[in-house]
Amino acid sequence: MTDTPRLDARLVPCAAAAWVATATGLHLGSSASVVLVTGAISVVVLVVGVRLRGPGRWRTHAVVPVVLAVCAVVVGFGAAAGVRMWFAETHPVAQAAADGRWVSATFEPTDDPKIVRRATFGGEPQVRLPAVLRHTTIAGGTQATGGAVVVFAPADGWSDLLPGQRVTARVRVSEFEGAGTSVAVLRADGHPRAVEPPPAWHTWAGGVRDRLADACRRALSPEQAGLLPGLVVGDTSALPDEVRADFRVAGLTHLTAVSGANVSIVLGAVLLLVRAAGLGPRTGTALAAVALVAFVIVVRPSPSVVRAAAMGAIALLALVSGRERRALPALCAAVGVLLLVLPDLAVDIGFALSVSATGGLVVLAPVAVERLCAHGWPRAMAEVTAVSTTAFAVTAPIVAAATGTVSLVAVAANILVTPVVAPLTVLGSGVAVAATVHPAAGEFLARGAAPLLWWMLGVADRSSAVPSAEVAVPDGMAGAVTAGAVAVLAWTAARNRRVRLATGVALLSVAAVWIPVRLLEPAWPGAGWVFVACDVGQGDALIVATDGGGAVVVDAGTEPGPVDRCLRKLRIRTVSMLVVSHLHADHTGGVTGVLRGRDVGAVVVGPGAAARDGGAELGHLLAQHAVPMREADPGEVLVSGATTIRVVAPAGPGYASENDLSLVLVADTPVGRILLPGDAEEAALDALVRAGVDVRADVLKVPHHGSRTTPARFFTAVRPRVAVISAGRDNTFGHPHPQTVDVLRRLGTRVLSTDRHGDVAVVRAGSGALAVVSDRRDTIEP
Ligand SMILES: [Zn+2]
Repeated sequence: MTDTPRLDARLVPCAAAAWVATATGLHLGSSASVVLVTGAISVVVLVVGVRLRGPGRWRTHAVVPVVLAVCAVVVGFGAAAGVRMWFAETHPVAQAAADGRWVSATFEPTDDPKIVRRATFGGEPQVRLPAVLRHTTIAGGTQATGGAVVVFAPADGWSDLLPGQRVTARVRVSEFEGAGTSVAVLRADGHPRAVEPPPAWHTWAGGVRDRLADACRRALSPEQAGLLPGLVVGDTSALPDEVRADFRVAGLTHLTAVSGANVSIVLGAVLLLVRAAGLGPRTGTALAAVALVAFVIVVRPSPSVVRAAAMGAIALLALVSGRERRALPALCAAVGVLLLVLPDLAVDIGFALSVSATGGLVVLAPVAVERLCAHGWPRAMAEVTAVSTTAFAVTAPIVAAATGTVSLVAVAANILVTPVVAPLTVLGSGVAVAATVHPAAGEFLARGAAPLLWWMLGVADRSSAVPSAEVAVPDGMAGAVTAGAVAVLAWTAARNRRVRLATGVALLSVAAVWIPVRLLEPAWPGAGWVFVACDVGQGDALIVATDGGGAVVVDAGTEPGPVDRCLRKLRIRTVSMLVVSHLHADHTGGVTGVLRGRDVGAVVVGPGAAARDGGAELGHLLAQHAVPMREADPGEVLVSGATTIRVVAPAGPGYASENDLSLVLVADTPVGRILLPGDAEEAALDALVRAGVDVRADVLKVPHHGSRTTPARFFTAVRPRVAVISAGRDNTFGHPHPQTVDVLRRLGTRVLSTDRHGDVAVVRAGSGALAVVSDRRDTIEP
């Protein structure tokens, strides 16, 4: 029973070589591919030469065929990637990108448009859609061109496009800066001119998805209705942002994207049905194939879904054939074929996650299951634990490298939700099928899913609320190595009895110290905090402590959830004043989160703000909550006492840009002066200094999320000891700009940003001096 079949790993070096050769070309361009291919050919020549004339023991060495095979793969895949990159580099549209030209382009989206929040630019939401070019008209001449592009366009008029629907639009071409075979980025500012209706099968798939979403909306709560389509077909468009954040922190996000597991579950259900109906294996295979094709069409045959389908089919093969031995060669072959057909997968983190998770499932999970069973675990429990743990262990290094975080509660959360994943996937697919037949049938089934969805949402909510649910680790290579080392250690520990004992004792003693410290420790960030920059994703939400335990909140971020959570963590129930620096969505979007369950004395906006774009909406919203809104002028003292907050700008409505109209505040606190300039840009910041305002401060909230709109001379004038940047992790604007961070560092300023450090607090240290703490790392002294 402990005799696990030996794995056939001969193809692993070839698959790895194919991956590395493709990724090298995609990252470094066609010239790198030429170098790589030439190198591999030289190695082949050398090896063959040694084999013919070299010393006898080398002629028959076992490594020779492996080296030759790897080189052959590198030559093939390197050449393929090189040719594709050369095509992308010399593409006429890529040439037009150099001068940012406007062209007329006809293209077909290859995936559903995804909303990206670009609310700060005029407040209009945008969509991002990958597409393939059909033809372009540059300077009057039309030519047929292939080539992958990334299109950004206003959500209005573009968000309903279906994959395969050929559209023409006027677009501005700019360079594609990421790794991959995309030739350019196209930005549209008007409506698309739809030339052709989508292909019939895409219309059918769109209909299935719509009816699934409708059935969920009518039968379930908003959170549940947002989640079920995500679990079944990866459609997360209705998923509330708070749930999204919970899933991320709890390490459950992979459930809302279509993964190999979805495919395995759907196919497994079909095979079980076939077996129950007494049909033969041939019919079974045929029906499973039909189900697989239908599934891929409904969830969109995008690269990520195609790879999920391949991985899922392989995992299922390992499961039903009972021969893990065959699964590893199949996985390697699938990697090779996918990289040939869809080379961009080589630089796609989703692909890396998917392959390593499937590899873990095939290689490690069976060993772990046998081991646990040998220790008397019931088989079902052993399987659930082994699958979740190995998936976490093999993917954690990749996640750490990409995001700089590791979710500690991920394993526990995944084990807790595992029992409901398969039933929900099957039930959800049932809802999709039933709703196509009759809406009422779909709703009936959807109602049956409610308790399971309630459980999953509950697990995500609770586990994301565990303190230190998410641990920051160094990102990039260092993060991958750290997480990998921890996973290897844990694996070794589980194998050796003595190491296991030692680890157990060590963990227990750490827990014995850590838990009481956690419980006894005063609430974050400890007594004596004066200022907190909340991690609210892309946007500002800043809190200044005022006398008597109250607080002034400056801006509320994009969404209500995060700012509410930040205020709850600080146990703030009374907000004497909410200042809205300016009327952009990344500052106003979360206003209802500040109001949630709190007494808010008043909302303060800049001079003339009530009459500007968005001012009336804000006033209307506040009127509904019976909170007064008023304008404040420069010179006005908003709060006085041990902490005083003054308005220093803007002098009047003299700017065209909303950012420059930001209210600029100076807070004098017991530990020093804090300058809060909103999103003010060069013109307003220069005017502030020219007007003779003393801008020197100990702490600077860096203007405009650390973008390049702040001149270096302003930083020199402020000369802060600490600079806090609020920016969202992986935001689409590239905030904060490295140059801005560099200028500040060169002034000797300690720079912290919410995307890396989480909530950042300025506190009064024991000595009475200013100190900075973040909720992800320990005290950082400026
Ligand atoms: Zn902003």
